[in-house]
Amino acid sequence: MTGKTHTSCGLLVGALTIEYYQTDLFTSITIMTLAVISSLLSDICHTQSKVGRRFKVLSFLVRILFGHRTFTHSLLFLSIISILLYFIQTPEYYLVSIILGLLSHVILDMLTPRGVKLLYPIPLTIKFPLVFKTGGLVDLSLAGALSIGALYVLFKSFFNNLFLSF
Ligand SMILES: [Zn+2]
Repeated sequence: MTGKTHTSCGLLVGALTIEYYQTDLFTSITIMTLAVISSLLSDICHTQSKVGRRFKVLSFLVRILFGHRTFTHSLLFLSIISILLYFIQTPEYYLVSIILGLLSHVILDMLTPRGVKLLYPIPLTIKFPLVFKTGGLVDLSLAGALSIGALYVLFKSFFNNLFLSF
């Protein structure tokens, strides 16, 4: 999937987390930022990706060590990040937005013909029975739909709070 689709999905994850935990403005902005970053983070193994271009050296190292769509797209990576965040006592709403952001990335990539090495280091490619081309019509429509979903959830919780304060 394109960076746009991953970003939109990150926005939706952030919006849903905010809606669920009813966080204040500062926390909400942090949640949105973390969700978007983590929804793109897995592609650090891809030097041409949004995050890869920003962190060229790290991206290069990850690619040399693990290859593309392997370690950073696996349950192992997700577990390690979850354990680390848990140990540094990350507040639950931040933890949830990061993990769901990472998970959303893996799920979206499982919808592409290339799939992901979900069970890395077991070299098994996992993908959904139905896959879509990256940058194709479905990918682009998905980016649009996810962004609209995110905006809807954000506005809904904003207006709810507004009415509650009267
Ligand atoms: Zn990816």
